[in-house]
Amino acid sequence: MQLHALIAICNQIAPEALAEEWDNVGLHAGHPDDEVDGVLLCLDLTPAVLAEARQAGFRCLIGHHPAIFRPLRSLRADRAEGHLLTELIRTGTAYYAMHTNLDLASPGTSDALGDLLGVGDREPLVRLERPVGERFFKLVVFVPLADVERVRAAIGDAGAGALGNYSHCSFATPGTGAFRPLEGARPAIGTVGTLERVAEERLEALVPARLLPQVVSAMLAAHPYEEVAYDILPLAPPPTGAGLGRVGRLAEPCTLGELARRCETSLPTSHVAVVGDRDRHVARVALCGGSGGDLIDAAAAAGAEVLITGDVKHHQALHARDRGLALIDAGHYATERPVLDLLCRLLSERLPADVPVRVSSVVTDPFAES
Ligand SMILES: [Zn+2]
Repeated sequence: MQLHALIAICNQIAPEALAEEWDNVGLHAGHPDDEVDGVLLCLDLTPAVLAEARQAGFRCLIGHHPAIFRPLRSLRADRAEGHLLTELIRTGTAYYAMHTNLDLASPGTSDALGDLLGVGDREPLVRLERPVGERFFKLVVFVPLADVERVRAAIGDAGAGALGNYSHCSFATPGTGAFRPLEGARPAIGTVGTLERVAEERLEALVPARLLPQVVSAMLAAHPYEEVAYDILPLAPPPTGAGLGRVGRLAEPCTLGELARRCETSLPTSHVAVVGDRDRHVARVALCGGSGGDLIDAAAAAGAEVLITGDVKHHQALHARDRGLALIDAGHYATERPVLDLLCRLLSERLPADVPVRVSSVVTDPFAES
């Protein structure tokens, strides 16, 4: 399979358009036409990860953290960042980043964490409200009965009414149009000065923003009327299951201390930092893989008793304690690492059998004991 086909599959799992504006996701190295012989999943691009890919004979890495984040000023092989990138290019290894788009996707990073810790009934902690991907319009046009099929075909041929594996989707409702042609008009139906009533259909179809000009031109060209009555209605984005963090419920409530121990046994970390009374009972749990210290207020507002995340700062921990929210900081790496197994499963289900995919065995947690 070629890399562009793999990228299309990744976009089904976590569309690049979901990513935060400040992020840098997508293809960072490689050519979309490159052959993919195997895929290695990692959180970070490191020399050891690259060596593992080389050893496995896989020339494709999918990483959670971007290989290129800040704008590059040079690509020097004698400096750490430049060395890794030049090695990618030298070895013909592609790097594709799925970062905040994988966090926001459903299922995403915090779902993988929730599954490992037994947190069910999950919903996004902060729902994604901005529109994702292409904007759509509804084109509504009123057409005399004899011309409906021609107009319908014209807008469909121009790209209106494309829904998944269907094209030319439209809907028509019969009704009566009325108009009085004034002096100077050259009406297709009726006579100047007389109120005319005509059997028409209200024809409507979905149009993506990028095709709107050509669909409207095609509609006007196919329509018999001198003055065509039509509306272009902007559509609100459909609600998605996407959002940052998750909040859910433990199948069996336990104490904060027991939940902290569960993190230490289920996640790749031997020690977690805890804010709060370890004897306190917890049932409603907020989760954010990676750095979730910014979600303390959202977690408290969602009724969570504890937030499990990583990278919590001193003043954020004080703030959580003041709000009565318990915290378990299990580290950035340990709270994100579960998503690689989820991604591996989602990709394996979709990739052809001759393209193996596996999770890197390299622990890229800089805090891990070596
Ligand atoms: Zn991260």
